[in-house]
Amino acid sequence: MTYQSINPYNGNTLKTFDALTDQQLETALTTASACFDTWRQTTFAERATIVAKAAVLMREQSEQFATPMTLEMGKLIAQSHGEVVLSADILDYYAQHAEHFLATEHLTPSTGEAMVVNEPLGVLFGIQPWNFPYYQLARFAAPNLMAGNVVMVKHASCVPQCAIAFEKLWLDAGAPIGAYTNLLISHDQVNRVIDDPRIKGVALTGSAQAGKSVAARAGLNLKKSTMELGGSDAFIVLDDADLDKTVAWAVWAKMNNNGQCCVAAKRFIVVDELADRFLEKFSAALALLKCGDPMDIATTLGPLSTEDALQHLLAQVELAVAHGAIVLMGGKRIDRPGAFMQPTILTHIQPDNPAYNEEFFGPVALFFRVKDEDEAVILANDSHFGLGGSIFTQDVEWGKFVASRIETGMVFINHPTWTTSDLPFGGIKNSGYGRELSHLGIQEFVNKKLIRVD
Ligand code: NDP
Repeated sequence: MTYQSINPYNGNTLKTFDALTDQQLETALTTASACFDTWRQTTFAERATIVAKAAVLMREQSEQFATPMTLEMGKLIAQSHGEVVLSADILDYYAQHAEHFLATEHLTPSTGEAMVVNEPLGVLFGIQPWNFPYYQLARFAAPNLMAGNVVMVKHASCVPQCAIAFEKLWLDAGAPIGAYTNLLISHDQVNRVIDDPRIKGVALTGSAQAGKSVAARAGLNLKKSTMELGGSDAFIVLDDADLDKTVAWAVWAKMNNNGQCCVAAKRFIVVDELADRFLEKFSAALALLKCGDPMDIATTLGPLSTEDALQHLLAQVELAVAHGAIVLMGGKRIDRPGAFMQPTILTHIQPDNPAYNEEFFGPVALFFRVKDEDEAVILANDSHFGLGGSIFTQDVEWGKFVASRIETGMVFINHPTWTTSDLPFGGIKNSGYGRELSHLGIQEFVNKKLIRVD
């Protein structure tokens, strides 16, 4: 298997990398396992020095991190710089707070003394997607390294340069060899790594399909896993919403990262009273996006990550239309080189349309008109996914009430679902299980050991 770095803006192959041989993989596992034996003995302060140094380096070398990201997967360059900062923030956050989050908990048993201590599990294995090439790695690596675990990562095959840059970051920051290991490996090798007794936990961010395969394998080995999977988030507009602000957020919620976010708004559910005006303003705003080179700061619509991703999205739109959906705007590839898709709005999607339950990963918005709050909630919850969602209303208390009726892991009011280091991130249903980030993310791969004194 080859890891290929291809610029989706023009189809040029930038670099290719061979996958590891089985022998190289074995050496990497041995090294990581040996590293754990010493890393686990380090203090929080020692680990924090390295993790904080990695944050400093990311900020100092923003250009070196951001450029390969834009070249490999088409993220607009300003957003690439934003992701570098977000990733550095996550590193800093855990460097500062891990010791507190993992402090020993003293219990109050009826007799004697008892406490719960948090001990690292060992070598962890992360399987990560291309859409946020550093943020995904940061949110897996930072809490787990601070907890005393060491990590091995299989990144998506289209972003090998980012994967390699992030591994080098740790060595530059002073981490020992084996604390963070990038693995350029095949899916078969992924399974063998999961089976390996030196691996103590598995974390995947990716599609539900990959999640089912990896979670099943981890389950067969009785290994703890977390699954951060896809979504089809509802963007609910209630009848008292401020329409201009809401539409501005709708554009961001759909188009950030060229429409390729797990928590992108994918289903726009608007009450009848505002539906026509919302559609008019939303489609007018999408029509203003300017496609072009994502390295050019003036570009507002970049390519999809790969030609395959574009072909998949076009096929989804075609299938949706064959089942009765109406294309309000867009629906086709843009007539120019590169993996560009027209900003698209589909309406009239009935429950028997495959689109009703699929994730559209790109600039395609599914629009639904509903009578009222109740219909909006029923429709929002009628999904295999349960990742995030958002509600727009000028009545925050009403927003909170509606949020309590939504079956997802995250609901935002008057803002699209988004992420910061101090907020937990994760979903339910086919969007997976477990949480990353915040005080919760660091608790997933530790042994909460009870010590009891009589
Ligand atoms: P994929 O599921 O295709 O790939 C994710 C990772 O899993 C890649 O490293 C991929 O490797 C690997 N992989 C895929 N299938 C298997 C398998 N059968 N066995 C072993 N490894 C496998 O997802 P994408 O990269 O296309 O990312 C987009 C998806 O990720 C979307 O569904 C998105 O919603 C979701 N996502 C979820 C987030 C969350 O936090 N909930 C955040 C970001 C994205 P390779 O590239 O070599 O195939």
